Amino acid sequence: MAPRVWVVEDDVHNFELVDFLLSEAGFEIVQAATAFELRALLAGPTAPDLVLMDMQLPGATGLDLVAELRADQQHQGAVVVALTAQAMRGDRERFLAAGCDDYISKPIDTATFVETLRTILARGRTHRDGD
Ligand code: MN
Repeated sequence: MAPRVWVVEDDVHNFELVDFLLSEAGFEIVQAATAFELRALLAGPTAPDLVLMDMQLPGATGLDLVAELRADQQHQGAVVVALTAQAMRGDRERFLAAGCDDYISKPIDTATFVETLRTILARGRTHRDGD
């Protein structure tokens, strides 16, 4: 079955690039461009296999949104990958502590993006509450 991916991204160009790469690879894409749209998805009946989370959104930090997602029993199984333009020392630890399983730096490397996500998905959840 096609992996179901929520792409939480407010930048239209970045979203289009991710949408293009993942659609071509057979993934099923749903976009949330705002915290409001993500919260609507969280409240809905569908659980994603993978969440790509832009860490810079208007109105909310990615870290807060990951915490909201992880607080929802329905979304414990989702693999969450942070997308970040500002990977700095210590970010990886902060992302993982917040409930992310991995992160990918922007700008996206189109040559490796899909394969990287497949590898992360195959590995599954690495975050566990209390880690
Ligand atoms: Mn953004």
